[in-house]
Amino acid sequence: MNKIIDGKMISNQLKNELKLEIDKLDRKPCVVDIQIGENDASNIYIRNKKREAENIGMKFIHIKFDENIDEETIINKIYELNKDDSVNGILIQLPIPDKFNQKKLINCIDPIKDVDGLTTENIGRLFLNEEGLISCTPNGVLKLLKINNVDISGKHVVIVGRSNLVGKPLIELFLREDATVSVCHSKTINLKKYTSDADILVVACGVPKIIKKDMVKEDAIVIDVGINKIDGKISGDVDFDQVYDKVSLITKVPGGVGPMTVTMLLYNTFYSYKKMNGLYDE
Ligand code: NDP
Repeated sequence: MNKIIDGKMISNQLKNELKLEIDKLDRKPCVVDIQIGENDASNIYIRNKKREAENIGMKFIHIKFDENIDEETIINKIYELNKDDSVNGILIQLPIPDKFNQKKLINCIDPIKDVDGLTTENIGRLFLNEEGLISCTPNGVLKLLKINNVDISGKHVVIVGRSNLVGKPLIELFLREDATVSVCHSKTINLKKYTSDADILVVACGVPKIIKKDMVKEDAIVIDVGINKIDGKISGDVDFDQVYDKVSLITKVPGGVGPMTVTMLLYNTFYSYKKMNGLYDE
């Protein structure tokens, strides 16, 4: 039995479905990625997003500001993009240099165009169970489980990591599915006690291979969000080789959650497009 949840294959299927929808449109959805300063990893992520967006017929605009730009100029640009009806999605490529007020900049984005789901309004909507844009990586995690017909209701879900980007949105997404949720973080005493009781274990802490065989329950489902570079090789937060035999389903790194994150960005942009053009049916 194949125990690997193939995020790459699933995201390709989802992108094909999106492309068919977009092919029918006269005017194509458009997403704008704002980069501030130089960052090698960001350059790669942006190139990747641009390629994926254009492959499905979406317009992708990359705006790059020099690190020495003043915040006001970026804010004015965001306001201009907010008003531009041809723009459906706006995101700020993270991380940005420390001297900028990240929260302030993100909150300048019109919530309907906030395709990363990071404005205070969209995060509030998520936790109030109101319709809004949901952060791409957590949304991708849920999508992977649902496409694999994983029954989440009543299960004990343990999330390792409590970041605003991944861990916290996951709490609410799993609660919506009627899971019982435990959240661990760097101050958790005896991490193993929690992880080894998880029916579904989601690890997003950025500590390479922290999850070992004795930390997972027999037949657990393990989702590895971590992306760590060790000696030039990408590895996750789960020691895949150790835990593989013990679990019932598992994602790989790379090729698991990563591809879903970009796909969810494209989904969110298409959702915003439909919302903005009165094409969204509940
Ligand atoms: P953050 O650094 O923002 O958060 C890490 C979280 O993990 C924090 O809550 C931290 O706890 C917790 N943590 C750190 N060390 C430990 C530990 N030893 N035991 C338990 N918990 C710990 O990271 P992100 O949430 O942004 O990302 C997490 C990982 O996911 C990274 O590897 C990142 O590269 C990857 N990622 C992958 C994406 C994808 O598309 N696949 C997208 C986004 C991120 P505390 O709060 O106490 O500090």
